Amino acid sequence: MEDCLFCKIIKGEIPSTKVYEDEYVYAFKDIEPVAPIHILVVPKKHISSLNEIKEDDEVLIGKIHMAIVKIAKELGIDKDGYRVINNCGKNAGQTVLHLHFHLIAGVNMGEKLI
Ligand code: 5GP
Ligand code: ZN
Repeated sequence: MEDCLFCKIIKGEIPSTKVYEDEYVYAFKDIEPVAPIHILVVPKKHISSLNEIKEDDEVLIGKIHMAIVKIAKELGIDKDGYRVINNCGKNAGQTVLHLHFHLIAGVNMGEKLI
């Protein structure tokens, strides 16, 4: 089966602006940012959505969140704060079927969205 868009980005077959990478996680700038900082944090393993995680992925989900905090600290957004969003499925507006977390910051979102 052909790799999905984010698998191609992880492999470097489609260019991206890398922000962070480790054994489990790849993070890059969203192509259509909704805030001054908008990063996509994705597992290197292809999982199509949050619905599809298995018991074996428990560590991976923790690694993704550890990576998000590392990135937030590296970018200096940990103090002012940030939002982490996962869109799961059609009604949430998930468009890319490879699990990803949006890391959004650089603006006060107190009155917006959720
Ligand atoms: P979703 O709507 O599935 O939660 O989020 C998908 C995100 O991927 C969107 O915010 C969209 O802007 C981003 N995106 C789609 N295609 C590309 C691409 O080729 N490169 C990058 N960097 N981001 C992409
Ligand atoms: Zn994929």
